[in-house]
Amino acid sequence: MSTEIVKDIICPQCGVSQKYRLFAGINASENPELKQKALEETIFDWRCQRCNYFAAMAYPFLYMDREAQYVICVTPGGSGQAAEPTAPIADYVKRRVKNLAELKEKILIFDSGLDDVAVEVVKNALCTIIKKKYQAKRVHAYFSRIRDNDMDFAIFVPGQPDPVYHSTRLEVYRQSQEVLRALDFIDPPGFATIDARLARLILEQYQAT
Ligand SMILES: [Zn+2]
Repeated sequence: MSTEIVKDIICPQCGVSQKYRLFAGINASENPELKQKALEETIFDWRCQRCNYFAAMAYPFLYMDREAQYVICVTPGGSGQAAEPTAPIADYVKRRVKNLAELKEKILIFDSGLDDVAVEVVKNALCTIIKKKYQAKRVHAYFSRIRDNDMDFAIFVPGQPDPVYHSTRLEVYRQSQEVLRALDFIDPPGFATIDARLARLILEQYQAT
């Protein structure tokens, strides 16, 4: 089940004390409405009922999908320890992310039946192209969906207010899976951070073989 904690907080604008619902643990199958909030990236949102003051909180929590067998530890800002995996989730895919955008992406990846390590390798190739196109040093790509034989990504380019959308062939994903197979890649233990940095390490390793 989902674990809810109710706290009293004082509105920084009008000073009125109110309740704020925190979720230490979210169970996606039992609480589809919380999954929806995760996909909308609104889990942390709080609005004052008196003066309408809006704030986005940030606190660590676990997001679990028992049907799809994965659990994601959200540690905002990347600080602090990730939780220690307990016995009941030993066989689950375990991931650690540092914000709600990354949580949303993991949910979309796993709901599409994809391997997030291979997706990161695909993103590495895609980001190289985008960086050249926009002459940007850093870009952030987020998987959004599979459409026919393509994978769609939302890409955030510095200086551009809105994301740009790009797609890549599923074939590139299959090639990325081949890279992982060639390296006998296995998931790191515990709550693993599967991100652009890991993709770079994997590709360096692959090129060295
Ligand atoms: Zn207020």
